[in-house]
Amino acid sequence: MKKCLVIGGGIAGLSAATYLIKNNFQVELIEASPKLGGRAYSFSDKVTNITLDNGQHILMGCYDETLKFLKMIGSYNQLKLHKYLDVSFIDEQQAEYNLKANLFFYPLNILSALLKYSALSLDERIRVILFAIKLFFTNPDSIKEENIKQWLFKNLQTEKINKALWEIIAVGALNSSLDKSSPKIFASILKKIFFSGNFSSTIVLPKVGLSELFCVPTEIFFDETNNKIVYSEKLMEVSIENERVIKVQTSKREITDFDYLILAVPFFGIEKIVGLPVDLYSVGKGLSYSSIVGCHIFIKDFQLEKDFYALLNSTVHWVFNHKSHLTIVISDSDYLISKSNEEIKRIIFTELQKYLGLEELNILSSKIIKEKRATFIPDQKSIKVRPSVKTSVSNLLLAGDWIQTELPATIESAVLSGRLAAETIVIEDEN
Ligand SMILES: Cc1cc2nc3c(=O)[nH]c(=O)nc-3n(C[C@H](O)[C@H](O)[C@H](O)COP(=O)(O)OP(=O)(O)OC[C@H]3O[C@@H](n4cnc5c(N)ncnc54)[C@H](O)[C@@H]3O)c2cc1C
Repeated sequence: MKKCLVIGGGIAGLSAATYLIKNNFQVELIEASPKLGGRAYSFSDKVTNITLDNGQHILMGCYDETLKFLKMIGSYNQLKLHKYLDVSFIDEQQAEYNLKANLFFYPLNILSALLKYSALSLDERIRVILFAIKLFFTNPDSIKEENIKQWLFKNLQTEKINKALWEIIAVGALNSSLDKSSPKIFASILKKIFFSGNFSSTIVLPKVGLSELFCVPTEIFFDETNNKIVYSEKLMEVSIENERVIKVQTSKREITDFDYLILAVPFFGIEKIVGLPVDLYSVGKGLSYSSIVGCHIFIKDFQLEKDFYALLNSTVHWVFNHKSHLTIVISDSDYLISKSNEEIKRIIFTELQKYLGLEELNILSSKIIKEKRATFIPDQKSIKVRPSVKTSVSNLLLAGDWIQTELPATIESAVLSGRLAAETIVIEDEN
C-alpha cells in the first residue's frame, strides 16, 4: 500500500486525505495546530457553553464538491437545506424585501424573483433582468473589464442596483469589494448560482458547528480505517533529490517512509517551508488577503423570524439567527481590524439597533472574532498566479482554497483542490 503525507488539516487537507484513503492509500495527516479545520472550526464558548464557529460559514446549493464530500464522511444530514432561492434583505427603515423564487418553471422563476425584488424600482429590475439574460449567454473568459464595478457599469447596472443586489452577493462570495475583484470570477459564480438549477441558488447552513460537520466525522473515518492524524506538529523543511521529495523535517522528527506529499497549507504558509521549488515561493507575492470580522451576540427577549438577513447599505453584511444568539458577518473588513473590540461592537450594535430594533437591554454578552487572513482577494492578478495541484516535483502536490480551481477562496474551492490532488496521485500511481 502506497503512503501519502498530507500536511495541513484544513478542509483541503481533510478532502485530499479522505479521497486517498477511499482509494486504498495509507495516509498520515500532519497538522501544526492542536485541532483540525484550519480557517473553518468551532469551539465551545466558556461563558455560555454554546458551540460557536470562528465565523459563520455559508454553503450554497451549487457547492457540489462540498456536498459530495459531506455525504462521503456521513454528515450531509447535518445541513439545513432549502428547495429554492429565498433571501430577505432589510434596509435602515427596517423594511424587508425578499428575493424569493417559486419551486417551478426554472429558470424563469429566477427572473420572476428578480422582477418581484421591490428594493429596486421597476426600471432597475428590468435592467437586472436584461443583464441576467445576457449573463446566461456570456463566456466569463471573454470579459475584458478589470474589475466588477466597471463590468456592471458597462452592463447598465446603476449605483443603486449595485448597492441593493450585486455588492451583497459579491462581497459575501468574494470577500472583496466590487472595484478589486475579477469580473471573470464573479460572472462564473453568478452563472453557477443562478443557472445550474433551483437548488444551486439556495443558501445551505450547517445545523451543527463546523468542527462537528467536517472534522469529527473525518477523525472517525481515519480511526476506522487505521490511518493517522498527528496534531501540533509543523512541517519545516523538505529535501528534494532527482525531482522527488525524499525526506521531510517536522518540528518533531524526520520522515522518509512515504511515496507522496501533499501540501494543503495556505499560500502564506508555503513561504515558511524550506527547500521547496523556487516558483512556489513567488505565488504569495501575487496574492493578497482580506479580513472577515464576526460577532456573536447572546440575546434575551428578542426574536427574529428568519434564519438569516442581508442588510442593505450597512457596515454589517449578514445577520444569522441562532435563536440564543445572533452571528454577525462583516466581510472585506481590513478597515476594522485595527479597531478595538469595543469600538467594533459599538459600530455593530448601532447598526443592529437601526436595522433590526435590537436594543442594549436585549444583549446579554457578545464576542468579536477577527480573521485577518480569512481569504485571498480574487483580483485579475490572482487568476495568473494561482498554481495547479501539480508541481515541478513529481511526488509533491498542492491543495488549498488558493489553488487554481477557478473558484474564490471558499470551502468549495478547498474541497475541490483536495479531490484534484488526490486524483492526480491515484492516476499517477496507476501508470
Ligand atoms: C471568518 C471566515 C468566514 C468564512 N466564510 C466562508 C463562507 O461563508 N463560505 C465559504 O465557502 N468559505 C468561507 N470562508 C473561507 C473558508 O473557511 C476557507 O476557504 C477554507 O476553510 C480554507 O481551507 P484550506 O484547507 O484551504 O486552508 P486552511 O483552512 O487555512 O488550512 C490549512 C491548515 O494547514 C495548517 N498548516 C499550515 N502550515 C503548516 C505546516 N507547516 N505544517 C503543518 N500544518 C500546517 C494550518 O494550521 C491549517 O490548519 C471563511 C473563512 C473565514 C476565516
